[in-house]
Parts: sequence; C-alpha cells; structure tokens
Amino acid sequence: HQSKLPNIGTTIFTIMSALASEHKAINLSQGFPNYPSSLKLNDLVADAMNNGYNQYAPMAGNLELRLAISNKYQLLYNSTYHPEKEITITAGATQAIYTIVSAFVRPDDEVIIFKPAYDCYQPAIEVNGGKTIAIQLSAPHYKIDWNEVASKISNKTKMVIINSPHNPSGTIWSTADMLALQKLTKNTNIIVLSDEVYEHIVFDGEQHQSACLFSDLKQRSFITASFGKTFHNTGWKIGYCCAPEDLMVEFRKIHQFNVFSVHHPSQKGIADYMQDSETYLGLSQFFQQKRNLFLNLISESRFKFTPSQGTYFQVLDYSDITDEHDVDFAKRLTREFKIASIPLSVFNEKDKDDRVLRFCFAKTDETLVKAAEILNII
Ligand code: PMP
Ligand code: GLN
Repeated sequence: HQSKLPNIGTTIFTIMSALASEHKAINLSQGFPNYPSSLKLNDLVADAMNNGYNQYAPMAGNLELRLAISNKYQLLYNSTYHPEKEITITAGATQAIYTIVSAFVRPDDEVIIFKPAYDCYQPAIEVNGGKTIAIQLSAPHYKIDWNEVASKISNKTKMVIINSPHNPSGTIWSTADMLALQKLTKNTNIIVLSDEVYEHIVFDGEQHQSACLFSDLKQRSFITASFGKTFHNTGWKIGYCCAPEDLMVEFRKIHQFNVFSVHHPSQKGIADYMQDSETYLGLSQFFQQKRNLFLNLISESRFKFTPSQGTYFQVLDYSDITDEHDVDFAKRLTREFKIASIPLSVFNEKDKDDRVLRFCFAKTDETLVKAAEILNII
C-alpha cells in the first residue's frame, strides 16, 4: 500500500522515553510529571464514578465542566464563551487539534506553522491533503519576522497554527506578536488555531496572551487546552477547545464521529475541582520554582541557556561541549550519562540543528538535583 504519510516515522517522544527506560536514564525527555497528581482530584473522579457518571457524556462534553471552563475565561480574560455552543471537551489537546484541522483543511489548502513546531500539527495537515507552509525560527530567541509571515500568506492560506507558551522552545508571544497576527488575518477567512495548552505556566510576572484577548482574532480562532498539563495528569488525556459558534458547529460535525464524547467521570471530577480557581492559578509559581532550581543547579555547567519564559521545558545549548548532531548527542547522553532529553532538530524545517536539547522540569526536586549532577559533569 502507499503510505498517506510517507515521511513520518515514530514520534521522538516515544523514541526517547523508550531509550530512557532501556538505559535506566533520568527521563527529562517526554513532557510529563514524575510526582503524583492531586489526591483531591482523584477522589472527585472516584466520587463521580460512584455517583453514576459512568455512561456517555453529552457529545460536546459534561455541561458542568463546560460551565467551569466558561467561568475560567470570564475570570482570567474577561472573555465570553457560551458553555453550550462554544466549548467542546476532547480527548486531550491532540484530538482537538486533529479534529480542527480535519474540519477545515481541504486538499491543497495551505496551513502556516512556526518551526520548531510540536509534532502533531504537520501530520494532521498532510493527512487531510493540506500543504504545510513553515516559517523557521532560530535559537535562542525564536523571534518572528512578521514581514516574512505576511509574505507567506496567500489566497490559499486556510489556517495559521500558533502555540504560546511554546513547546519546545519555552518562549512566549508578546502582545505585539498577537496584534501583528490579528492585523495580518483581519478581513480574511483564515482560521487561527491557538494551541494554549501551557496557558497557566508563564514565568517572571509575564501574562499569557490568549487569542481570546484580541476581539477580532477571537472571531477567527480556536483555542485548544489540555487538563493534563494543568492538573499534572497527562495520562488522563482530557482537554477542550473553544471557538465562536459558527466554527464550533463545523468542529462538532467531525468530533461526533471520531470520538463522540470522552471519559465522563474525569470530566465531572475536573468540573468539581475547578470550582476553586486556585487549582490552576498557582501553576506558574509552582513551575517557576522548579525552573529556577534547575537553572541554579546547572549555572556552572558547560550548557548555555536563556531561561524558559513558559511551559515546563528548558532548552539548553551544548555547542561549547560537542559538535555532534543533536539527535546523536541526545541518544549518547541517554546511553552513556543516563539522562534523556529531546533534540530540537526533529521539530525544525529540514532538520535544522541549532545544537540545543529540551529538558522537562516537571519533576520532583530530587530528580532535578540528580539530573543537574549529571549535566554538571558533561
Ligand atoms: N500541544 C502541545 C504544544 C503540547 O505540548 C501537547 C502535549 N505535549 C499537546 C498539544 C497535546 O496535549 P494532550 O496531551 O492533552 O493531547
Ligand atoms: N507533549 C509532550 C511533550 O512535548 C509529549 C506528548 C507525547 O508524548 N505525544 O513532551
């Protein structure tokens, strides 16, 4: 048979986590916490199971959860999303992203993405027959040249996918970036997919610039989010998306047939847990302590860095240590030094290699101390 995705292999997250476990390495590669998620939240999900939330949720998701999400947008961004018509609960952000792309992208449509890009965007575009138009950014600041973006927009542009706070670089978009995107897409039919899974993890007093804060942009945008990142339980695979009703109608046409609805008791448990906004508002502080600890511990190492501005990832530049290709170096570090990371070239256009690796600091302080001890002797 002829592959629909001839150039796609196994995702780097699977490769590096498998290598880490084979070599019993500290796994700072794939992004997930190695400490327990909230017992209170777990209990609320168990309560939901014991109280009868065991059959199909409504197609768009448990309404209490959609209400809790709607309240969150009101509280944090003073932005209104109608819980019944403009919010849908998904199987993680991944399903939301895949479904959004499937609902809008037709063969030969162009979709603009910024590289390095999280690895699920391009396959979703291409399996739907779309064409990826990549804009390559460079370490260490990953600054966007908005003239270049303007030059890549054409009448074939169907969608622009953005992601702030950004995985893998740990950079965030400024208000100026959001305004530039809003201006470029104004009076067009371009849909913006704003992947905001790390919205609650922003450091040094900066503010997350959600697409919903920009009224014209909001009219064209889907926002995707992931409870796995917010509540330290990536294995639950529950997320959601928000969009104006006309866009959400199209989304649900696909959603109802590729998943219909997702795990009901966790939706009810999360809805109850979110009644207290402290459950998600304290996240930046929690992860900033971890970022600072990690960076302080490796400040004397031979790795160079610009502190992560958001997400739970830190990019480290190893160009003072070796000339090796980043994939080779990441694998050697796992085998020989027992520490696993993610090479950034796999997210770049033509495997552009800036000699940087991504390390996940959503780990216990003890793990971060052990990891730093290793990084300091490399
Ligand atoms: N987008 C980005 C930028 C991510 O980092 C992730 C998770 N690694 C996802 C989407 C997918 O989220 P989920 O696990 O909820 O599907
Ligand atoms: N989002 C996680 C990361 O960036 C990995 C998700 C996955 O394994 N697909 O590390």
